[in-house]
Amino acid sequence: MDKKNFETAAIRTQLERSQFQEHSTPMYVTSSFVFEDAEDMRASFSEEKDRNIYSRFSNPNTTEFVEKVIAMEGAEDGYAFATGMAAIFSTFAALLSSGDHIVSARSVFGSTHTLFTKYFPKWNIETSYFDINNPDEIESLIKPSTKILYAESPTNPGVDIIDLEVLAEIAKKHKLLLIIDNCFATPYIQQPIKFGADLVVHSATKLMDGQGRVLGGVVVGKSELVREIYLFSRNTGPAMSPFNAWTLSKSLETLAVRVDRHCENALKIAEALESNVNILKVKYPFLTSHPQYKIAKKQMKLGGNIIAIEVKGGIEAGRKFLNAIKMCSLSANLGDTRTIVTHPASTTHSKLSEKERLAAGITPGLVRISVGLENVNDILQDIEQALNS
Ligand SMILES: *Cc1c(COP(=O)(O)O)cnc(C)c1O
Repeated sequence: MDKKNFETAAIRTQLERSQFQEHSTPMYVTSSFVFEDAEDMRASFSEEKDRNIYSRFSNPNTTEFVEKVIAMEGAEDGYAFATGMAAIFSTFAALLSSGDHIVSARSVFGSTHTLFTKYFPKWNIETSYFDINNPDEIESLIKPSTKILYAESPTNPGVDIIDLEVLAEIAKKHKLLLIIDNCFATPYIQQPIKFGADLVVHSATKLMDGQGRVLGGVVVGKSELVREIYLFSRNTGPAMSPFNAWTLSKSLETLAVRVDRHCENALKIAEALESNVNILKVKYPFLTSHPQYKIAKKQMKLGGNIIAIEVKGGIEAGRKFLNAIKMCSLSANLGDTRTIVTHPASTTHSKLSEKERLAAGITPGLVRISVGLENVNDILQDIEQALNS
């Protein structure tokens, strides 16, 4: 088979079988690999041979996982990391120098925001922020030192959508690298490289694993950029473990069917909640009421599994809602088989001032629902009884 379709690539991208002819890929739990002789060792280290040397550089299991993500995202090359944050940090660290500048969406994952505000300034790397609902302001933020344009879509926790083609046009015009965190969509729903992204980063911890078991991260994209990230990473050591790679490679085999059901459940719940009298607003990319519905439809195959709702009564109502939940989990994770509800204003974003929260789109009554794979009626019943209580 030459170019495989998505589901097939997720299942039939596999290592060569060992002498045991196993059907499922075995786990290669080894820190290093042996050489035939001095010449084999020399050729391997000089990279004349493409082979495994040490699991900080590569391992058969991480290679299999990365190959699948490369195929799914339509990328040229990739590298796997211990966590999503290791992937994001290493990507920036490998590609930027002191004095460089980043233009980023304001609403990005919390730890990514902390990299921009607390750590990168120590190395003289500054970041300017644009409002995802106002891409027109991006060009005014670009300086001669700007190297990277960075965004997530859909965003966390507000599920806002940004037009990836518009970002790619701006990046091309100003010779910036466009890097997209595609974690909320997964490559099944959205492939940013098709719209012009240079690199795509993921937390594999979320829907890619989808079962709340392991942490992982991955970056895929243009070969020459991935090469820089690889060299940085093989020397600094954020590599994914063979066990996690094996687990995640298996997870990817079911990504399409899992995400199909996640999204089917999420759309049904979002539609049902729109008529609930205790909710001010329901935000879900594939509801026609979503402000960027048309863009979502253009670049996403499905609406994803995250719904943002605004409960009536502000912070107190949000806390009460969480306390009345019976089945769904109160947890910081998302993209799990189990439905998870969180109230950002009183938890993850409680340290921000009310003003800072509002600037990031976090209203007092905002509740984020990561819709799982339980029976959709059971999920809805739990949410509705908590809202009505
Ligand atoms: C969770 C998450 C990350 C960080 O991933 P970890 O695997 O937890 O390090 C980055 N970006 C987004 C959008 C996430 O949801």
